Amino acid sequence: MNFPSYRSRYLPAMTSGQISRLPDKGWAPVILATGAIEQHGPHLPVAVDAAMGQAWLSLALSRLPQGASCYVAPPITIGKSNEHTGFPGTLILSRDTLRSQILTVARQVHAWGFRSLAVINTHGGNIPVVIPTLREIRTLFGMRAALLPSLPPSGLSDQESRFGIHAGEVETSWMLAVARAHVDLSKAVCEYPARVEDPSEVKPVNAAALVAWTSRDVSVSGTMGDAPSATAEKGERWLVAGAEAYAAAIAEICRSGRA
Ligand SMILES: [Zn+2]
Repeated sequence: MNFPSYRSRYLPAMTSGQISRLPDKGWAPVILATGAIEQHGPHLPVAVDAAMGQAWLSLALSRLPQGASCYVAPPITIGKSNEHTGFPGTLILSRDTLRSQILTVARQVHAWGFRSLAVINTHGGNIPVVIPTLREIRTLFGMRAALLPSLPPSGLSDQESRFGIHAGEVETSWMLAVARAHVDLSKAVCEYPARVEDPSEVKPVNAAALVAWTSRDVSVSGTMGDAPSATAEKGERWLVAGAEAYAAAIAEICRSGRA
């Protein structure tokens, strides 16, 4: 059996007694990863979002500055992925179930003595559930609750940064950097749900008027972005920058919680 690289912070790797004796539960956040198991085009496994949550944690927690601390809850690996309905491999929690899972973790770590919870989220479809649930955690349990900020990758084309939203250059590059053996670049395609030069104000994302979409509506392959342009070097660079941003955010949560 293998525990993750951040075993010393991973709550499921501790005994009940160890958890009860942790000295910094008043300010050290419990980090909860929310991911997804959903289709990621013809070239990536369906576990990308769930796996990336673990990769980000490994990278970010090894960069925590002195004086910062945190603990890690078991991840919520299935997310609200109803936009990928109809692609085998996609598993879907309803928004109510996802909300209820997050609240359940918060309620119980609060009962153990923790007073701060931070979500690291790797699936965009979860965000409309996560944000109001964090406010409920604040009002119901009095906990400090935060969503860790993901850093937008630098150097993307305008087209890719606005409409490369799924299994495109960014996610494929991340996966090449952390799990090369699980990427089949020979099957990667470039497909977009909309074009920047299209003057229409109604688009699935990044438009004045947003239209609800499913992947089947806007993509044949399930890819939304330029997957063939991905490289491991870009992935590594974005991962290091993003992990440093996550580590800084966790450190700030610790600092403000101790004040
Ligand atoms: Zn994804």
